[in-house]
Amino acid sequence: LERTFIAIKPDGVQRGLIAGIISRFERKGYKLVAIKLIVPSKEFAQKHYHDLKERPFFNGLCDFLSSGPVLAMVWEGEGVIKYGRKLIGATDPQKSEPGTIRGDLAVVVGRNIIHGSDGPETAKDEIALWFQPSELV
Ligand code: ATP
Ligand code: MG
Repeated sequence: LERTFIAIKPDGVQRGLIAGIISRFERKGYKLVAIKLIVPSKEFAQKHYHDLKERPFFNGLCDFLSSGPVLAMVWEGEGVIKYGRKLIGATDPQKSEPGTIRGDLAVVVGRNIIHGSDGPETAKDEIALWFQPSELV
């Protein structure tokens, strides 16, 4: 079955949004197959966002991701990669639709509270980066 990597970023954890976000995925019908709270190192954040290393915001983005606890998760279900992105909403919360997680809960692109894998290849790579196979139920 399809799986995706979802992470609540330090701003989402700090703001107390964990339960509300998990609830959206659960109510939709997706299954939680792995979860842990970790503070990633900056080096780890750079690995996670390696595709963006040429972007001007890369350094600040990695500093931010490593600034506090991140709730790392793997969710499973039909279409979960694409539909997970739909639940999350557009990258820039000014453009995310109301009803999406970012649309409802965030204001600026640098503090958009949640990450979701953008395709099958990145889902596979990100799950392998954040979790040991034994941590997946
Ligand atoms: P994520 O990978 O976190 O799920 P995304 O796939 O919607 O987000 P990406 O293009 O992968 O968007 O960008 C990764 C993250 O980099 C964004 O979530 C955002 O926090 C940050 N980011 C993207 N564009 C900008 C920007 N123009 N200025 C500042 N930060 C940005
Ligand atoms: Mg992305």
